[in-house]
Amino acid sequence: MTTEDHNQGYGDGTRCVHAGLPEPAPGEPFLPGPVLAAPYHLDPERGPAAHPNGYGRPDNPTRRLLEAAIGELEGGDCLAFASGQAAITGALLAMLRPGDRVLLPADGYYPVRGFATSTLASMGVSVDFAPTAGPYPPLDGVRLILVESPANPGLDVVDLADLAVRAHAAGALVAVDNTTATPLGQRPLDLGADLVVASGTKALTGHSDLLLGYVATRDPALLDRLRAWRNTTGGIPGAFDAWLAHRSLATLDLRLARQSANAEAIARALAERSDVDAVRWPGLPDDPAYPVASAQMRRIPGIVGFDLGDADRVARFLRASRLIFAATSFGGLHTTADRRAQWGDDTPDGFVRLSCGIEDPQDLLTDLTTALTAAPPPGAGADSP
Ligand SMILES: *Cc1c(COP(=O)(O)O)cnc(C)c1O
Repeated sequence: MTTEDHNQGYGDGTRCVHAGLPEPAPGEPFLPGPVLAAPYHLDPERGPAAHPNGYGRPDNPTRRLLEAAIGELEGGDCLAFASGQAAITGALLAMLRPGDRVLLPADGYYPVRGFATSTLASMGVSVDFAPTAGPYPPLDGVRLILVESPANPGLDVVDLADLAVRAHAAGALVAVDNTTATPLGQRPLDLGADLVVASGTKALTGHSDLLLGYVATRDPALLDRLRAWRNTTGGIPGAFDAWLAHRSLATLDLRLARQSANAEAIARALAERSDVDAVRWPGLPDDPAYPVASAQMRRIPGIVGFDLGDADRVARFLRASRLIFAATSFGGLHTTADRRAQWGDDTPDGFVRLSCGIEDPQDLLTDLTTALTAAPPPGAGADSP
């Protein structure tokens, strides 16, 4: 808490470097190494009351520092989970009871939609969907509304402050999936959300080497419920992953700045081409998400959406590129491209989610342009009578 107060007035780069670090102590490292322990020595008389380190599922000192760091950046109290999916499903299960109604994004992360229509619905929760950009149905009778802004993979956005006012007037809780934006892109708790849920696997940690999720809130009662939920269900991240994640957070500001600059250059180049359709990047002034995104977000993520028509052209494009890896996930150091339909996501067959890494913009642009030209649409480019 004192660390939070100390770092609040600083810029993003400073806050990322210092987030969650213990007070300087001579002879100690800046960020202590991972504490790998299941049980710890207990005080023989006072037992677990004597020290927070008792057993690894409820608590771990490495995870505590990571949670302090993410909590500072989000502006709330944070609980880390084993993955984004563990955090989001955990938050939904901890908050919802049979008979409740939940509203989810129709265009959001598809495994969350699948979880809702199978597990939540079978528990007697009534599940409805609304597109991120709206229109939203009347919210009366809704217990919780989960939104993703920008949504993965379509990149539509919603005015979070406006939605929070409407939801609270109807007595609904608001949870915002902040995976794509990261807490440097927007702080949903400042905009009125009750809960932030996110995958830390993506841009937040950015090195494509771990899975992580978290929930953040300012409401002590919700925090208690989530903590009890996590402790009884057990979906915690390991200490080594928590430490790697904390180590990666220090460079978040730099990584996002380069990713966003690369995305801008690429989105502009793609928008100029007649052989690429449906280019989406919320930072392009004629993108449908631009008006809300530019008012609400402090940075636009490094993700660009576009359509190459069919799966074959996407494959030819990826074969021809030297710098763009075919891979899922996003927000990493390396530029990657994912044809979402291959995972069962209900996107067009040729839709690509391109995640810009931190390579040099000119190298990426040259590689992308060369690869697209080497992979023309069927019929184009070939000599035809
Ligand atoms: C990836 C992702 C998740 C799930 O996170 P995992 O860490 O893969 O479990 C949830 N929401 C969004 C928006 C995501 O992109």
